[in-house]
Amino acid sequence: MSEEALCPLCGRPLGAVNIDRHHLVPRTFKGREQFPVHKICHRKIHSVLSERELLQHYHTWEALRAHPDIATFIAWVARKPPGFWTSTATAKGKRR
Ligand SMILES: [Zn+2]
Ligand SMILES: [Zn+2]
Repeated sequence: MSEEALCPLCGRPLGAVNIDRHHLVPRTFKGREQFPVHKICHRKIHSVLSERELLQHYHTWEALRAHPDIATFIAWVARKPPGFWTSTATAKGKRR
C-alpha cells in the first residue's frame, strides 16, 4: 500500500493505524473487491446502512458520500488526525 493512499470515503490520508477494509459489494452478495478505509469511516458506513442498502444503492463511494448522515460525518472527521479513533464517534449519528 502506498503511503499516499487516501481514504475513499473521507479523502484524508489513511495513515498507519486504525485501518479497516470495506467491500463495496457486501461479502454476503459475493463482493470480492475491498478497499482500505479508516476504521472510523468503516464503522460509520455500517452504522448508517444495512447490507441490503449497501448492495442496492450504496455500492459506489459517490453514493456513500452523498448520504446525508455520512456527509455530516465526513465534514466532522475532516479535522481529525488520520489515526483518530473513538468508540463514541458513531454515537453522534444515533442521536437523530
Ligand atoms: Zn476515512
Ligand atoms: Zn464494510
